[in-house]
Amino acid sequence: MALIVHKYGGTSMGSPERIRAVAKRVAKWARAGHQMVVVPSAMSGETNRLLGLAKEVQPAKVDDAVLRELDMIACTGEQVSVGLLSLALQAEGQPAVSYNGWQVPIKTNSAYTKARIESIDDVRVRADLAAGKVVIITGFQGIDEGGNVTTLGRGGSDTSAVAVAAAMKADECLIYTDVDGVYTTDPRVVPEAKRLSTISFEEMLELASQGSKVLQIRSVEFAGKYRVPLRVLSSFTPWDIAIDEEAKSGTLITFEEDEKMEQAVVSGIAFNRDEAKITVVGVPDKPGIAYSILGAVAAANIDVDVIVQNVSHDGRTDFSFTVHRNDYARTVDLLKNTVQPATGALNIIGDAKICKVSIVGIGMKSHVGVASTMFKTLSDDGINIQMITTSEIKTSVVIDEKYMELAVRALHKAFGLDDPAKVV
Ligand code: ADP
Ligand code: ASP
Ligand code: MG
Repeated sequence: MALIVHKYGGTSMGSPERIRAVAKRVAKWARAGHQMVVVPSAMSGETNRLLGLAKEVQPAKVDDAVLRELDMIACTGEQVSVGLLSLALQAEGQPAVSYNGWQVPIKTNSAYTKARIESIDDVRVRADLAAGKVVIITGFQGIDEGGNVTTLGRGGSDTSAVAVAAAMKADECLIYTDVDGVYTTDPRVVPEAKRLSTISFEEMLELASQGSKVLQIRSVEFAGKYRVPLRVLSSFTPWDIAIDEEAKSGTLITFEEDEKMEQAVVSGIAFNRDEAKITVVGVPDKPGIAYSILGAVAAANIDVDVIVQNVSHDGRTDFSFTVHRNDYARTVDLLKNTVQPATGALNIIGDAKICKVSIVGIGMKSHVGVASTMFKTLSDDGINIQMITTSEIKTSVVIDEKYMELAVRALHKAFGLDDPAKVV
């Protein structure tokens, strides 16, 4: 008998019929003798619908009081899901009970809309499991010290599930979704993408941080920190397939390097359209300039990603960086109103129509020429690179967003990922 955590995403929970299929699958695992904790997302489209309503009522302002209410609104999607799933399990003859995050409780900090989990109390959950119930806990939700409901950021149910698995020392955390594992890139963009039977934790962390939304990055961080056995698999297989077969399907996140990983130079390609580029033009090139720009941005709680400072001419330089698109207008305002007057910069310009494409692979540690292959591939397709950033196992480029799919497809081919023989 094992303690297993299942997570089901929005599409997997997308209709009463899908929820019944999830209930049948979970009941199958429970009948096999496992203790089951299930963490579902809101039904697909529901979180967007709820946040859309909020925007209709109050479109402009963003402060803590507003963000608090966004969490009050957004968290309700998951409450509906857990209740429905519990009913469906009971209809299967499987005792079940559902909880909101605050009832467990899952405690977080107070960073509304992007809260971080601080602790999880498992006493209530364990008592229910011991009484033979399946326990269903809302994804995405938590509660802060002041008793306010919080949410964990978009895609945060992955993190709820892995955190619950870590807190309860679960034997395995299975992330059920609408694709049958982690692919070399998003299979919806590149149909030739191949499913990986395993992927190293480090690579998964990079892919998630560079935009592969198959797992929220914080869920991968949790899995790494607490060594949670983590697998991504499909909720669209027949619910009654043999448990042994199901338990081996999908993609396992591994913590040890194996032979296969040493072979692949580039394991995957990630992309995201969530960023915008801003350039502070003609800023006087003197010590402290990066701080006077980015210090002001950080003080406004805006995260910065890629940063490039150009060589200076005549004592002035251009300083470019990317921020999340949601923060774009706010950052430009901030720079125009405070940083430009304070530094004497000549202009602030920006471009929200960019994307970032990243190649990721542990093999990049020991192979030279990987980045140059990337740059050649893009240049062969006439794609201009605006910014470049690298780490030991990834190279990212910022390009015009209209070339995103072209770039991803070309790179997928150039690194041999279209070739079935090369990918396991
Ligand atoms: P869920 O609602 O189950 O959490 P998400 O939509 O958040 O599902 O994540 C699954 C989606 O992630 C897939 O439908 C796929 O389009 C996308 N995706 C992006 N990159 C990858 C990748 N490398 N492998 C698999 N799926 C990916
Ligand atoms: N329902 C939330 C979202 O849409 C959380 C999740 O799906 O993981 O972002
Ligand atoms: Mg998701």
